[in-house]
Amino acid sequence: MDNDCLFCRIVAGEIPATVVHETDTTLAFRDIDPKAPVHVLVIPKEHHPDVAAIANADPAATADLLAAAAAVAEAEGLLADGYRLIFNSGAHGGQEVFHVHAHVLGGRPLGPMVSR
Ligand code: 5GP
Ligand code: ZN
Repeated sequence: MDNDCLFCRIVAGEIPATVVHETDTTLAFRDIDPKAPVHVLVIPKEHHPDVAAIANADPAATADLLAAAAAVAEAEGLLADGYRLIFNSGAHGGQEVFHVHAHVLGGRPLGPMVSR
């Protein structure tokens, strides 16, 4: 655990979150500032700064993370109409919290992937 990391502190129960899904290796909770009717963050319980880091360090945990995101999408009722899975990475990607997290977004048409 990284004591300075917001999401490690959520995993540790030090900061409250609305948890919607949990496995041995992952936690999923609602984004505090939702950008769509469904906006859930899915994280590994172990600290990795971004998706490249976890993919290189722990392929099994990476697979767990994607499976958890898919389970959240299904549980939130998003499979019929679709959804978006986003890993913001680094400065140009707009990453603000450096504990890897998948954004599961849906519940309305989400528009263009990015603005030009
Ligand atoms: P990023 O910009 O790093 O891809 O996404 C970080 C996300 O974390 C943002 O969507 C932001 O709203 C969310 N967030 C920031 N602080 C908290 C918090 O304390 N609790 C929850 N549930 N979400 C947070
Ligand atoms: Zn962390």
